Amino acid sequence: MPQNDNPTLPQKISTPSFAQHVLHWFDDHGRKNLPWQHDINAYRVWVSEIMLQQTQVTTVIPYFETFMANFPDVNALANADIDEVLHLWTGLGYYARARNLYKAAQHVSTSLQGDFPTTVDGLVELPGIGRSTAAAIVSIAFEQPATILDGNVKRVLTRHQCIEGWPGNTQTQNTLWDLAETYTPNNRSRDYTQAMMDLGATLCTRAKPQCTICPVSADCKSYANNCQSDFPNKKPKKAMPKKHVHMLITLNSEGSVYLEQRPDNGIWGGLYSFPECTPASANLNDMLDTAPPVLRQAIHSGPSIQEIEQWSEFKHTFSHYHLMITPVIIRLNHSPLTVSDSDQHTWFNPSAPSKLGLAAPVKKLLSKLT
Ligand code: SF4
Repeated sequence: MPQNDNPTLPQKISTPSFAQHVLHWFDDHGRKNLPWQHDINAYRVWVSEIMLQQTQVTTVIPYFETFMANFPDVNALANADIDEVLHLWTGLGYYARARNLYKAAQHVSTSLQGDFPTTVDGLVELPGIGRSTAAAIVSIAFEQPATILDGNVKRVLTRHQCIEGWPGNTQTQNTLWDLAETYTPNNRSRDYTQAMMDLGATLCTRAKPQCTICPVSADCKSYANNCQSDFPNKKPKKAMPKKHVHMLITLNSEGSVYLEQRPDNGIWGGLYSFPECTPASANLNDMLDTAPPVLRQAIHSGPSIQEIEQWSEFKHTFSHYHLMITPVIIRLNHSPLTVSDSDQHTWFNPSAPSKLGLAAPVKKLLSKLT
């Protein structure tokens, strides 16, 4: 293992002892029955690691099981339809993860004959795989020493050594990588990776860490100084901007709703959503003039509009801005014939939903409609 030559790191750490304490604790208390801990291979570890990014284990479990039932191996995923993949991802959020998963599967299946790279350097070449995820795959699937540094590990390490600085900051991150590498043992690679994740997820939790039963409490600096809640340091605050949109929710006389597929790049890329507009006037009828041409044509292909109503604005928060959404409900008294389903738009029946990837607020609005 690399030696700690970073002068900013504490030099009193007994590194074998840190890993040993963590591994002993894992033997008795670690999680060993998660679905991705059975039939371990690079594909299953990779999918689970991507799903677990920013997402709790309990949320991920049913998604992982359904995903594996539908795409049991990398070739099955590569040969699937992207809409089907996004559909199974609906509700997990951060959809770029699903699109990258799909792209990487196609690359592994066609260019690497279905075999995943076995090194961190090889794995980070694949779309959506960063250094920590690559290390998790190498250590768990191939049982080779590799250092992870996910959110859980950052929390443990910053508290254990009172590391100052927001972990998103490059300098702090470099210090944490050095420290994490110093601690990583040369043996029991799979168990150590899982143990560090478990320690952060079950004991060294964001609120109320359970220090009295923590295996590394003896030399934990934040525990000794009762300042656990100061670590990791928070991201420097910046006011989040707001963007306002109106979503046009058009229902035909059969109760189907007009949806269009979003472009691959940008928010909710590849998912189906309601057309959006930013109205120049508060007049609801004027708003229809800003609808996409194909929807305008559909609306005006019948005798009249039965009703237009506006619902209250609500907020959907992304990592870098708030989207303020005002739903506008347009009820038609006909079922447009001029619009047929295509790759880009569809009349979606909420009572008998077809398999489409839907953005979370769209799902919410559809259930409110029904
Ligand atoms: S002693 Fe407490 S703060 Fe320190 S690593 Fe353990 S759980 Fe986290």
